[in-house]
Amino acid sequence: SFGDAEAQAEVRDNDRQYVFHSWSAQGKINPLPVAKGEGVRFWDYDGNEYLDFSSQLVNLNLGHQHPGLVKAIQDQAGRLATIQPSMANDARGELAKRIVEHSFEGARSVFFTNGGADANEYAIRMARHHTGRQKVLARYRSYHGSTATAITMTGDPRRWTNGVIDANIVHFFGPYQYRSEFYSETPEQETERALEHLEHTIQLEGPNTIAAIILETITGTNGVLVPTPGYLAGVRELCDKYGIMMICDEVMVGFGRVGEWFAYQAFDITPDLVTFAKGVNSGYVPLGGVVISEAIHDTFVERPFPGGLTYSGHPLACAAGIATFDIFEEEGILERVRDLGERVIAPRLAEFAEKHPSVGEFRGRGLFWALELVLDRETREPLVPFNAAGDAAAPMNAVVAACKDAGLSPFVHFNRLQIAPPLIVSEEDLVKALDIMDEALTVADGYYTG
Ligand code: PLP
Repeated sequence: SFGDAEAQAEVRDNDRQYVFHSWSAQGKINPLPVAKGEGVRFWDYDGNEYLDFSSQLVNLNLGHQHPGLVKAIQDQAGRLATIQPSMANDARGELAKRIVEHSFEGARSVFFTNGGADANEYAIRMARHHTGRQKVLARYRSYHGSTATAITMTGDPRRWTNGVIDANIVHFFGPYQYRSEFYSETPEQETERALEHLEHTIQLEGPNTIAAIILETITGTNGVLVPTPGYLAGVRELCDKYGIMMICDEVMVGFGRVGEWFAYQAFDITPDLVTFAKGVNSGYVPLGGVVISEAIHDTFVERPFPGGLTYSGHPLACAAGIATFDIFEEEGILERVRDLGERVIAPRLAEFAEKHPSVGEFRGRGLFWALELVLDRETREPLVPFNAAGDAAAPMNAVVAACKDAGLSPFVHFNRLQIAPPLIVSEEDLVKALDIMDEALTVADGYYTG
């Protein structure tokens, strides 16, 4: 509890002594001991309060300790805590049904996994068996998870030192108007040229060898990159033309983040496979999965699917998933996400862009936005270099420190300050967080050289 110095010291000591942390040089980290979380807030042992504007790792869509989620897990634990995947279970079946019913037309079934990376592994495996092809096209500036195929598909520096674990992955560029690879001057040009680049990639790799194209419907960690108009429909067309499966990775943007059940629903496309995790139950119990089209499902009606997991469709996780659907309806989550995004965030970020020279661009949708911070608006030189660490990252670290000192825990990646609060955030807390960011941006302005 707050002020308990001994408890804090023990949490810290056990962590430093015994816990091996993700993505870290173990000797160079000092994780914050967290005493409590509630709604959009968490507290450290000294009683400092933080607004959680990263929703942890963009998974905490319904906030900390949502009573509906907690109760669903408690009830399920009291009834049947676990059951192996080859048996039928009420919670598992009910959640699969609800997910299919909220998915694309022609969605047939759900394979449950433990999280996002393995959802992508299994989606690829399904696409490979279904098509009899091996290659997969994935985009630069993407994150698909840390397991073998998922990390190889990842198009950011986290792949680099892991080497090539899956030799059948090829990377291509998606649309990114602000830093266009295609010298385009309009979003329409960006779409046309990005699709041309993708088709050339398909042709040069050999259309008959390509099982799937995987993409984050809206790129998450790598910059909240909203596809330019017509891009996703164009990818769908290319997939149809060459018999390639289209996989939407909705691990970060699914379940309400951008004001839709699934982000692809905002772009009017029908994927073949959709992967999800995080927001399906706000990560209260690990859960991910793959939504499977009728055609791919049919491939495995007579032929066994060669894959599985002990915890596929874990009842505790599924109970929290069902509660998520109920809470979304009861609290009108999708409507409020759209409303807060359009009415509160977008105009305020437009104001930031007028007021703060360091804001090169802002973009996003729903409760998912990025501010691209630059040293110079003309050259668009980022506030810190791509993949900056140590001293090179100092300007962004200073922005983060200004946020934290004022009680805001933000999501930052390279030169971007990103906004991803729990979807239950009140307008008052949202405005409070934006006020803190407004102040913190003056720190970024201090580095401006343009
Ligand atoms: N795909 C996307 C788009 C993600 O953002 C993430 C995690 O951040 C993953 C996949 C991997 O999910 P997990 O960490 O649950 O394996």
